Amino acid sequence: MKTGKCPKCESTNIYTDGNPKRGDRSSLQVTSWKKFFIDIYICFDCGFTEEYITQENLQNEKLMSRVKEQWKKLP
Ligand SMILES: [Zn+2]
Repeated sequence: MKTGKCPKCESTNIYTDGNPKRGDRSSLQVTSWKKFFIDIYICFDCGFTEEYITQENLQNEKLMSRVKEQWKKLP
């Protein structure tokens, strides 16, 4: 989806919510006191939706290591 093409129907009619983030769907509570902000991509032809945590969150090593302490990595 980030490439601008829907993996389900191959449409290029993809939209993202942009910034600033607001509303329940724009963040994900990951621990009792931390949340990730979410970039949402939606195909406006078939409705397929993809969500990614923001690059800002991904590059925040302190935040990521805190979350890794509480989440389980798949084997
Ligand atoms: Zn689609």
